[in-house]
Parts: sequence; structure tokens; C-alpha cells
Amino acid sequence: MDLGKLTFKGGASIPEFKELTSKNPVEVLKSPKIVYIPLHQHSGSPCEPLVNVGDVVKIGQKIGSSNAFVSSSIHSSVSGVVKEISTIYTPTGIKSKCVVIENDGMDEMIESIKERSLEYYKREEIISTLKEMGIVGMGGASFPTHVKFSPPEDKKIDILIINGAECEPYITADHRLMLENTKDIVSGIKVAMKALNTEKAYIGIEDNKPDAIEAMKKELAGEKNIEVAILKTKYPQGDEKRIIDAITNRKVPLGGLPMDVGCVVSNVATIKAINDAILKGKPLYERIVTVTGSVNNPKNLLVRIGTPIEDLIEACGGFKGKPGKIIIGGPMMGIAQFDLKTPIVKGSNGVLVQALDEIKNEEVLPCIKCGKCIDVCPSRLEPLFISSYSLKDNYSKCDELNALACVECGACSYICPAKRPLAESIKIAKREITAKRKKS
Ligand code: SF4
Ligand code: SF4
Repeated sequence: MDLGKLTFKGGASIPEFKELTSKNPVEVLKSPKIVYIPLHQHSGSPCEPLVNVGDVVKIGQKIGSSNAFVSSSIHSSVSGVVKEISTIYTPTGIKSKCVVIENDGMDEMIESIKERSLEYYKREEIISTLKEMGIVGMGGASFPTHVKFSPPEDKKIDILIINGAECEPYITADHRLMLENTKDIVSGIKVAMKALNTEKAYIGIEDNKPDAIEAMKKELAGEKNIEVAILKTKYPQGDEKRIIDAITNRKVPLGGLPMDVGCVVSNVATIKAINDAILKGKPLYERIVTVTGSVNNPKNLLVRIGTPIEDLIEACGGFKGKPGKIIIGGPMMGIAQFDLKTPIVKGSNGVLVQALDEIKNEEVLPCIKCGKCIDVCPSRLEPLFISSYSLKDNYSKCDELNALACVECGACSYICPAKRPLAESIKIAKREITAKRKKS
């Protein structure tokens, strides 16, 4: 099989701005004075606190859990004292209980963190450990990994795809991870293959990261069952259905899941977290975050979960110019924040600052029926029609036009010459359709 320049139908070439940070090795951010750790950082049920105000905690200590299967444990990222159990908005806009911990600066770890070889694990034990260690998808969706790795018996997974595409402009956290933690990624892939009982894995990397492709290929020399698949740089190549299509030519049916075509897709940062959890006994309490855009020194930082974004901006020399918008994530799928105290959570791969003078308030014009939004839509939808019905509150028509298949990539809004709020209005339609289905 030719594993070069693979791609999917649709999508768009968009400016990348990755040069701001792609050559910057990851720096460890000093641990913050206070962390705000939300108990709902994942898809599924929120956790309940396991600690009370005044409790002394250590790094890696479990501070939140849930009995629900679709949930994932939460751990302390510092050692110190629990100051408050409050409520905050997470970067994705979810209102969540939050454990506020004052850091004692001692960096004391829990004693149970110890190394263990893969051969001592049974498959079921890997799955339950992933939940216990708080492992969730770190590419954005934050779906609990133990759930993804537990497909029903009739869904045999024969291909694991590691998503190293990182197609979102500006973000280079996964790029640096692939360069700096290559060994851990390869051993993490082997853990995931054992958990899924899968013989074959591909790591998909866009061709704008030749150094990462080289590093992974070198590390994989001699491995027959794990290969690098080189992807054409195109947005949104990192969407899981698009990466499956590009690498395997399998099409996930409308409304279906990757397991329907025998695949599981896991982000490269998640694979590193799986490696650390299973082989090193380390829960997920820190991650790499790209801090970029209008800051004085854009960087890639290793950040404790719960660190307020203002600490990251300060570590990057502060704002360059007057800030207009602060986004957690990238410009296409990220979410604008209203509070500098908002904490980094497990799914936060970037902080992008846009200066006030960079933000264009372009006039929305009538649709000229150019069809560009249809050409770029990776989900093969007709964004102009869905959006038009959504703007008229006609959500049943949006449903008929398969609005739920929209992956919210924003490519349609980006390409639209009339600057129509396509992705934004389709997102609203999705929310309304889902709410209606839940009621009925
Ligand atoms: S309709 Fe949805 S999936 Fe299609 S381009 Fe727009 S945002 Fe992306
Ligand atoms: S890209 Fe914009 S102007 Fe062109 S058809 Fe779609 S909505 Fe209309």
C-alpha cells in the first residue's frame, strides 16, 4: 500500500501560522500558585469530588470519580491544600464543579506511581486502568478512552489509527510531542493495540511536518505492524472520519462510528498519556499546550491541568498589542474565552491570542450560490441550505438535510465569500435537533 500524500474529498487549504512555535521545544511551565480543576472535563457523566475543603493532596491523587461507565477520573496536578469546591465554566462552556487547590510548592507525588511492564496486564485490566487514570481523548473531544477501547463484541477492530495530523492552524503541540517523545508514542501504540486486540496500526501525519514523519519512521524501523501514513496537508484532515477515509479508504456511514468500519482513532497525545498511565502508573494531570498568536514569545508549554490561562500568557511575555480575542484551541474549532482565570483542561491543546486590530468584523452579505461551501464540506453536506433553514428556526428541515453529520470544522464559514455564519448556525441547529430527540 502506498502510504504517501493520502487525502479525502472536500476540505480546504488554509494558512497555517505554525512557524510561530513549530521549532520551539516544549518548556515546563512553573507550577501555578492555585489550580482550578473542573470535575467535568470529558464527554459523559461529571465526577463527584472525593476531597473536602482543608484536605491535603498530592500530585496524581484522585480527587474526582464517577460510577458511570462513560466518565473518567480526575486527579490533582499539584500538592497542596483544597481551598474550595466551587463552580466554574470550563473552556467548552460547561458549568462544572471545580476543586480549587492552593499549591504548597513541594511537588509531592502519590506513592502509587510506579513502572509496570505491558506483559503483566490483561486486556480488561488496561481498560479499567485507563478509566482510573483519567485518560480521555486529548485532541479536543475528550471522549473517555476506556469507552472507545470497549467496542461491542460484534465490532471487530482491525485497524488502529493514531492521529498525528494536527490540521488546526497555529497549533504545534502534537508536532513537538512526536519529535520529543517518539519512543513513548511507539510504546503507547503497542499498549493501545493490546487493549484493542488489533494487529495493525498507522500513525497519520500531515506532510507539513517532515521532521516528525522522519522521527516516527526512524523509531518504527523494524516494526512490521505499525506504519507511518503521510497525509496531504489539508483542513480538516485530523477529523476522525476523514483520517480513516484517507488512510484506509473506508467510509464511516452517516450517523455511524469508526468502529462500524473496523477502526479506532486515537490522538497522538492520548497515546502518550496511555503509555504513561499503563507503563509508568502516571495519571493524566498535565499536557502540552501551544501558546501563540499575539503574545510576545509564543511557546509550547507543558502545563498542569487546572492552570489559569493568564499564567500561560504571562510565561509567554504577555500580550503583544491590545488583546481582542483569546481562544482555547485554534482559530477553526477553538472556543473564545471571557475569563483569564479559565483553566487548561485535558482537551486544551492551545491558547491563541488575536489582537484587537486583527479581528475583522466583516459584513454578512446575501448568498451568491457559488457552491464553495459544498465543495469544502468534508461531511458532504449542503451548508448553505442547512444554515438558511437554521436561521429561520426550521430545525426539522435541518435534520432532514443531515445537520447532525456536521463535524463543526468551520471550513464552510472560512471559504464563504459572503461571510455567512454557516458553521455557527449549523451548530445551533445540531443543538436544537439533539435537544428535541432527547425529549421525545
Ligand atoms: S457544514 Fe459542518 S462539516 Fe461541513 S464544512 Fe461546515 S462546519 Fe464543516
Ligand atoms: S459559500 Fe457562501 S455564498 Fe457560496 S453558496 Fe455557500 S453560503 Fe452561498
